[in-house]
Amino acid sequence: MNIKRVGVIGGGQLAWMMGEAAADLGLELIIQTPQQTDPAVSRATDVILAPIDDSLATAKLANLCDVITFENEFINLQQLQSLAAQGVCFRPSLDSLAPLLDKYDQRSYLQTIGLPVPQFTALSSEADLDSVSEFPVVLKARRHGYDGQGTFILQNHQELSATWRGFNCSPMLLEEFIPFTKELAVMVGRNVSGEIIIYPVVETYQKNQVCHWVIVPADVTSEVIEQVNAIAQTLVEKLQVVGICGIELFLTKDNQVLVNEIAPRTHNSGHYTLDGCNVSQFEMQLRTVADLSLISPSLKSAGAVMVNLLGYETSQQDYQAKRSLISSLPNTYLHWYGKTESRPGRKLGHVTRVLSETELSQGTAIAEQIASIWYSG
Ligand code: ADP
Repeated sequence: MNIKRVGVIGGGQLAWMMGEAAADLGLELIIQTPQQTDPAVSRATDVILAPIDDSLATAKLANLCDVITFENEFINLQQLQSLAAQGVCFRPSLDSLAPLLDKYDQRSYLQTIGLPVPQFTALSSEADLDSVSEFPVVLKARRHGYDGQGTFILQNHQELSATWRGFNCSPMLLEEFIPFTKELAVMVGRNVSGEIIIYPVVETYQKNQVCHWVIVPADVTSEVIEQVNAIAQTLVEKLQVVGICGIELFLTKDNQVLVNEIAPRTHNSGHYTLDGCNVSQFEMQLRTVADLSLISPSLKSAGAVMVNLLGYETSQQDYQAKRSLISSLPNTYLHWYGKTESRPGRKLGHVTRVLSETELSQGTAIAEQIASIWYSG
């Protein structure tokens, strides 16, 4: 199949960054996104303005492109299945997405294919609630959680019960709290012929369940890297996924790796690849879904730090002064998503600072320096 027009369900910052890579590869990007002001609209060849779970709109999108890929997993799988049955080509396929969309199903699937995960159970009744005996415990919404929204670390029965009631006692995922020493992540891609590429393993740093920065390469042993790479390889082979996946992981004090979450798409922990690697995760997603040759990914320098610029107030400001100050730092690249409104916790942009060999040990200090400029009063 000669693919020239790639449809994307979603028009946020991930599709926006994919838009630049599409232009470089001579591909057209056509997006389905709710708002004219969404970041990727400015970089799309064509736009279907509609909610991302509107399958009638996706049918229109399918008429405009050769293949459809995804920016997030908040899709209506059942409705898309009828389009797939009519011959619409989704990459990743709906079969490979199906076990991943719901966090409880995803944990169950990962366990079935033999990958290490935290102990977990479904919370659906008062009896399930009463049977919890160890705290802290982690409660998660099964769908539509992101950036830590829908994830709660709870210290006792009272907190657990109150939080669950806040969700109208709907079915949720309950899992053991992992006292990790580090959080890691990796991006892995697979194409139609089964070729697999794995990016370097990164360390991610979360505050209140939200990623603030990422450091690459992760400062871990080669055995840990091998565990991560084996997990990545098993996952994409079992799923038969065509596309790119982000894998979030916990590292325990005895150097065991556990999978926290799979995102079947480009991921925040891979944003550093734009400036830090020979091929970005966005280009890689396009290469996999458009059947182009894969490029083996590697760092262009010794390492990199990526800092998220998160909203810390409700405002219509464009923060030009702070952006200029950060951009003037050496070896620093700022990506501003052009959102029209800032809200607390909203991802407004990110910064990559490329590191030399001698700066590798200063990753955290450099991330803190950039964050202190961004969050200063
Ligand atoms: P989201 O999908 O919203 O990003 P995650 O499930 O990835 O939510 O959780 C966000 C963060 O919450 C993780 O990066 C980690 O810091 C913390 N967290 C999630 N699950 C656990 C757990 N089982 N034990 C300890 N911390 C956890």
